[in-house]
Amino acid sequence: SPLLQPALLRSLFPVLQQQVKGQPLAYLDNAATTQTPLPVQQAMLDFEQHDRANIHRGVHTLSQRATDAFEAARTTLKTFIGAGKEHELAFTSGTTEALNTVAQGLWAAGPDKAWLRPGDEIIVSGLEHHANLVPWQQAARMTGAKLRVLMPDAQGCLHIEDLQALVGDKTRVLALTAGANATGERPPYEAMLTLAKQAGALTVLDAAQAVGHTMPAMADLDCDYLAFSGHKMYGPMGTGALAGKRKALELLYPLRLGGDMVEWVEYDRAGYAAIPTRLEGGTPNVTGAVGLAAAARFIEQVGRSRIDAHLHHLRAQAVAGLQALDGVTVFAAQSPQAALVSFVVQDVHPHDIGTLLDERGIAVRTGHHCAEPLHNHLGLGPTTRASFALYNTEAEVARLIDGVARALKVLR
Ligand code: PMP
Repeated sequence: SPLLQPALLRSLFPVLQQQVKGQPLAYLDNAATTQTPLPVQQAMLDFEQHDRANIHRGVHTLSQRATDAFEAARTTLKTFIGAGKEHELAFTSGTTEALNTVAQGLWAAGPDKAWLRPGDEIIVSGLEHHANLVPWQQAARMTGAKLRVLMPDAQGCLHIEDLQALVGDKTRVLALTAGANATGERPPYEAMLTLAKQAGALTVLDAAQAVGHTMPAMADLDCDYLAFSGHKMYGPMGTGALAGKRKALELLYPLRLGGDMVEWVEYDRAGYAAIPTRLEGGTPNVTGAVGLAAAARFIEQVGRSRIDAHLHHLRAQAVAGLQALDGVTVFAAQSPQAALVSFVVQDVHPHDIGTLLDERGIAVRTGHHCAEPLHNHLGLGPTTRASFALYNTEAEVARLIDGVARALKVLR
């Protein structure tokens, strides 16, 4: 690709410089987890070696440095997602915790104070990761609200007209993905969020697969809550954030009650701290926050549009190569942003393909990709998924195609 030089970038990712089963590792499982570059690792190491201490509570120098590092990371990430003045960001352990913070936070205040009441409606799309579905199932159960699903068409696309038919005066929440991890589909979420907002709903965007790519600034979206994970954007595992409009975050009853999230405490009651601290009970992963901010800076340095152009190029190569193989059905999302390709092979189980690819040092993911209802809806069953990151090369994609072709010879 003329836009990126993965060969140069690769030297920043030590984990890629290894052999697996006697072959150079071709890591094509990036939709599950991306690898971290040296600047991210170094930022965490520096923090561990010089500034590590508990935050907010201490007057001593290290505690102040750690607090400053944590708050600086917050500022970096707010800028990274294009947050506006009305936005705040709470650190979480990832997208799953962020989405649970919203879904549980909307009912945990109790029946008389909760945002959700019996008869209300929650809309999720049929493309959602389990993390943006299961918490809403529970929210519906706990409140007597009804869960409604915006179903994709046979190609896995969502349509605004179908959402128009679902949204009404009972709609209290729309929870939508900005990019489906199983198919790569990118819904027209801008218009969908606006539609739900106009109906008076709270809007939730699962940006786990989107935040490391070109996407609109949060300030330009009708989005009350935005969730993402560090490990999908070249950052540390077990990190992430819930960003939101301050007023929307204030609606959430905190999941984790305890130290750090309180203003004052008596034996029988407590006053909770302001947003975002209220949502950050307990000692946070400060090292992780520092690494996550370094990952955001790394992405900005390389450039999101350059990254996406490279990924688009690799994906086109993979789609063309796999489609040309006999018996292979490629499930190619229409979206130009998609950085992955899912495929099925007639009469061959993906697990066997994945195992044979691993024998050649090629890492892919097989299964339902935490989107089991979607796979059932599309009549797909489990798939093999190859997903790309900025350090992947045309040569690796060629090895993937060749590896699948050889696997098929063995398996059929
Ligand atoms: N949503 C989407 C779209 C995802 O791809 C993922 C991770 N596969 C998640 C949510 C959950 O993220 P995490 O496991 O980091 O909490």
